[in-house]
Amino acid sequence: MTTENLGRFDVVVVGAGTGGLCTAIEAATGGARVLLIDKQQEIGGMLHIANGEFSGAGTRRQAAHGISDTPEEHFAEVMRLSHGKADERLAWQTVRAQGRTVDWLESQGFEFDPATPGLVHGHEVYSVPRTYWGVRAGLSVIDALRPLLDGLVEQGAVTVRFGVRIEGAVVEDGRVAGVTGTGPDGGEVTAYGDAVVLATGGYDANLELRNRFLPPGCENALIACLDHATGDGLVLAEELGAGISGDGYFIPVMGLIPDPGRPGFAVDYREAFVEVAPAYRTPYEIWVNRDGERFVAEDTTSPEHRERALLRQPGIEMHIIWDQAIAAAAEPLIRNGAGDWTPERMRDEHSRGRWIVAADSLEELAGKLGVSPGGLVETVRRYNEAVAAGHDPDHGRTTLPIPISQAPYYALTSVAASLLSRDGLRVNGELAVLDREGDPIPGLYAVGEVLGNNVFAGDNYVGGMSVTPAMTLGRELGRALAARRGSGRG
Ligand SMILES: Cc1cc2nc3c(=O)[nH]c(=O)nc-3n(C[C@H](O)[C@H](O)[C@H](O)COP(=O)(O)OP(=O)(O)OC[C@H]3O[C@@H](n4cnc5c(N)ncnc54)[C@H](O)[C@@H]3O)c2cc1C
Repeated sequence: MTTENLGRFDVVVVGAGTGGLCTAIEAATGGARVLLIDKQQEIGGMLHIANGEFSGAGTRRQAAHGISDTPEEHFAEVMRLSHGKADERLAWQTVRAQGRTVDWLESQGFEFDPATPGLVHGHEVYSVPRTYWGVRAGLSVIDALRPLLDGLVEQGAVTVRFGVRIEGAVVEDGRVAGVTGTGPDGGEVTAYGDAVVLATGGYDANLELRNRFLPPGCENALIACLDHATGDGLVLAEELGAGISGDGYFIPVMGLIPDPGRPGFAVDYREAFVEVAPAYRTPYEIWVNRDGERFVAEDTTSPEHRERALLRQPGIEMHIIWDQAIAAAAEPLIRNGAGDWTPERMRDEHSRGRWIVAADSLEELAGKLGVSPGGLVETVRRYNEAVAAGHDPDHGRTTLPIPISQAPYYALTSVAASLLSRDGLRVNGELAVLDREGDPIPGLYAVGEVLGNNVFAGDNYVGGMSVTPAMTLGRELGRALAARRGSGRG
């Protein structure tokens, strides 16, 4: 086992995901000597699985599409969609510059999906198209940033170390002066910097930590992010006395499928999820809870409405029910980003028994699901009546294509999922981490999901308001740290 000193740098960035990459790139471009550390073997963090949708107003791309928009309008919508619960100061700090982030990505050759700027219906929709994504989803962001980083590494401005897990801070004279951790061979690693930036992402893959922040009754939520999100930066900073929010907000992501091989985790989002947004697929099925009862109009256009309805169900789970006729008539229920869930693949999945349960009667189906048989039979009867009448008195659903009456019957269980951390480190406008009294911890900064998404989205999801603040504030922090270089304070 070895002990390695990686040296002294102007800026040590822990985490080479969305926020860390942008911080490192801007700090080095501004002249700082940067060390970028990641516990994994590659850059990109959550961008490997994320949709990578980002938002910004007043962009060149909007102008080219004749869309009139301003940061002020974007900010007003962030506050509206977050029910006034986003942190006004930090939300404005990022939103005012997000358009410039979009233009910057464009200058780096970012490969925009031709449909952008667009409206996205997976979360409450903005009133104007100001969301962008790449042809390779989150990977497109990595594609745009990688050449910049490689160029800076070649110039010697950035040193990158993979496979190093940072676990602690070096504190000298009351200020954070470096980090310590474990290297690829299990040996101790130390690095020194005038500024240490925690860009370690969220904690959602760390069940114990995640459940500390979730409201009671939501512990069942599936983990839907990548395994690296273990909250290391949060734990490190908390040990230094950092203040951490504890808002108790949770709004789930819907449509994730429990992974039979990994209890508590969702099937990888890149492989499969259920499309629940009616803007993207006409719903033929019904959704029932453990009592076999419907709980929401399955065609509601409000993601927040259906997400909150699911949170009120026992076990925060739902069973999607359909029959043979729907299997033949509807578009594939299961999707993924690659778009390879063809009708043929969906047909095969019906008989694979991996995620889909099949039965010759509704009673048998209910038995297999652990759902009340009487409840399910009665619910389907009422639903079929609604289809015949063209009117759903129970939930006001207006998409009523065909009844559920032809065996075999099918079901797929979906559980509310968490994919990004709601709570996190408290920071000031310089992104300096604050202690529990609200004073900056000298030398320590944070950016990205380690701040918690509540500061940018309140108790809701707001389009692009995780990836874009990570990039935008990361760039801002990198520039500021480069400007302060040599001043003795990072
Ligand atoms: C399925 C999915 C879809 C999403 N879609 C969107 C979307 O469309 N739009 C949006 O705005 N947000 C989206 N998000 C959220 C968004 O991707 C993340 O919030 C954002 O990318 C986080 O960036 P980050 O830099 O803070 O962290 P990450 O990208 O998670 O990077 C953190 C990095 O730190 C490293 N690290 C962690 N701990 C240590 C340690 N101790 N030592 C060294 N390295 C460490 C990790 O290995 C990782 O590389 C999505 C998330 C998921 C899971």
